[in-house]
Amino acid sequence: MGRQIILKSPSEIKKMLVANQIVANTLELVEDNVKPGVSTWQLDQLAEKNCRKQGGVPAFKGYRGFPGSLCVSINEEVVHGIPSKKRILQEGDVLSVDFGVQINGFFGDSAITIPVGRVSDEIADLLKHTQQSLYWAIEAMKIGNRVHDVSKAVQDYIEGYGYGIVRNFVGHGIGSSLHEPPEVPNFYSGRQTPKLHPGMVLAVEPMINLGTEEVKVLKDGWTVITADKKVSAHFEHSIAVTEDGPLVLSRRQNEEF
Ligand code: MG
Ligand code: MG
Repeated sequence: MGRQIILKSPSEIKKMLVANQIVANTLELVEDNVKPGVSTWQLDQLAEKNCRKQGGVPAFKGYRGFPGSLCVSINEEVVHGIPSKKRILQEGDVLSVDFGVQINGFFGDSAITIPVGRVSDEIADLLKHTQQSLYWAIEAMKIGNRVHDVSKAVQDYIEGYGYGIVRNFVGHGIGSSLHEPPEVPNFYSGRQTPKLHPGMVLAVEPMINLGTEEVKVLKDGWTVITADKKVSAHFEHSIAVTEDGPLVLSRRQNEEF
């Protein structure tokens, strides 16, 4: 990661919108196909096909050797789960799906957590509140605010529910690289952070746990799980700071926001 925040021109933001809209329509397609009995590998295949037919390249595939197009993380898995024919979704599971696309030299990145059939009220609430924390973060992406105002928006809302905010993984700038400065934590470290300027594009991604904030990485070297094995939720959007307010590049058509 270089150190400088790279501001994007309006025409570059348009390219990022194209990438992010492939991400968005792919996540919608995956969501429509999540049901008990489906493997995470099947969802991965579906996503890759949908992406490539629009001219996009799945951004995670081969990234530091990651084998899938999607990151698919079930229940206590937080992020970076590997698609597998052996992982079959069951009623009551939750599935976090993270997807990235590259096209015309720019990246898109977004994630949603999807209930499989009926889930408990406790888990449904975790999903609802994690998504809402992302929306508060987006509202904080105004010119004049700083990156930590975005972080604090997540933290202030989430801490009221007593959930664990994952600290080991954070959001990021995005553009012609998948990960660019600045880091966008989901908590406030007390450190000074950059001001938000028009042309900044951030991937904001709260990872929120029912229990402890502590996580660990499985032996596969990728899958991050909660230390207490309680359920985790993850929502992410790529958002541009503009003179007219935050522009959610990865907004899904079915999204009421
Ligand atoms: Mg992502
Ligand atoms: Mg991301």
